Amino acid sequence: MSTHPFRTFPELDAASADPHAASKLRKLRRAGEQVREKILSEGTAEAVATCPLITLPYPTAFAFSGAARSPAPYIMMTNRMTVVQFRHEGALKTLLFNPTDYERGVHGPFYWNLRQKYGAFLSEKVLSHRHGTVQSHLAQLGLRPDDVDYIAFDHLHLQDVRGWLGGEGATAYFPRAKLLVMRREWELVKDLHPMQYPWFVPHGTDGVPEDRVVLLDESIWLGPGVAILSTPGHTQGNMSLAVNTDRGLFVVSENAVATECFTPLSSGIPGIKAAADHLGAEVILNGNTRENSLDQYSSMVLEKTVAGPSKIDPSFVNFFPSSELTASIYAPGLSPTFSHGEISQGTVRRGSAHAPRAA
Ligand SMILES: [Zn+2]
Repeated sequence: MSTHPFRTFPELDAASADPHAASKLRKLRRAGEQVREKILSEGTAEAVATCPLITLPYPTAFAFSGAARSPAPYIMMTNRMTVVQFRHEGALKTLLFNPTDYERGVHGPFYWNLRQKYGAFLSEKVLSHRHGTVQSHLAQLGLRPDDVDYIAFDHLHLQDVRGWLGGEGATAYFPRAKLLVMRREWELVKDLHPMQYPWFVPHGTDGVPEDRVVLLDESIWLGPGVAILSTPGHTQGNMSLAVNTDRGLFVVSENAVATECFTPLSSGIPGIKAAADHLGAEVILNGNTRENSLDQYSSMVLEKTVAGPSKIDPSFVNFFPSSELTASIYAPGLSPTFSHGEISQGTVRRGSAHAPRAA
């Protein structure tokens, strides 16, 4: 396994180490404020682009942990990749956050069973909508496979990384890219508990060369304006991208399916505000797995603290769901009250190694 050359956030590690849930939450909130200040102090990322990949159904009961009042069994949500460029020791680096290989991901048992239930046509042509592949988005941005230095996922649900990194039955699409992944996530995916099993692609990491994997034990600061934060709960090795832009500091993960889940009192989705009021809950969890709900709640408080308020509407925070609730005729009443749309910063370009030389 490879090691990483990046700075860390000692205040976050100290807070995370507290074994008592309530005091850990208080410490994470304070640490989150410090992390936010640190990231803001170094300016913005070099470039950011968000790329929609696929819109697909997802159980309403999971999406809002049962809080939304709707007869619709499924919401629709759009999974997106975020392309981030940052400077590390002077060199331009490219990270793909959530480059979902959805053609391979279809073998995850939860969606495979849905496909069996509704049939391939209904589930793939009517209920889901493909916007573009990782490959097509990168081509549009002018990037080639060897421009990609790192790939990372907020968690490994429905991910099959063999097509990107090489592994059993696959050759690597990206010749150089390394996977940044929490050690806990990498270890759990190798030996799943029955409650984890439905969400992971069988053999999705089998045979990936060890030198393509960077195991993380903590949050890391990749470069000015870009960090990966350890945010366990949804899965044990869950993590979030923090990226500073001219529109503010954004945090990206799948801990919630809509930005309003971080400020539920501002939500117009029937049931969300009432549930938050009733429970005194500050956040509404995306709750399909609940590997550790107390940690997920605390991780979401950390995320909203680091993200801070939206510059467009401060009653919402700069949380950018990696799979975002999307309005659909199949899910009446379940449309986002507020959406960031897309994030765009600077101009994505080929890395320093490929820059044309001056004559
Ligand atoms: Zn998930």
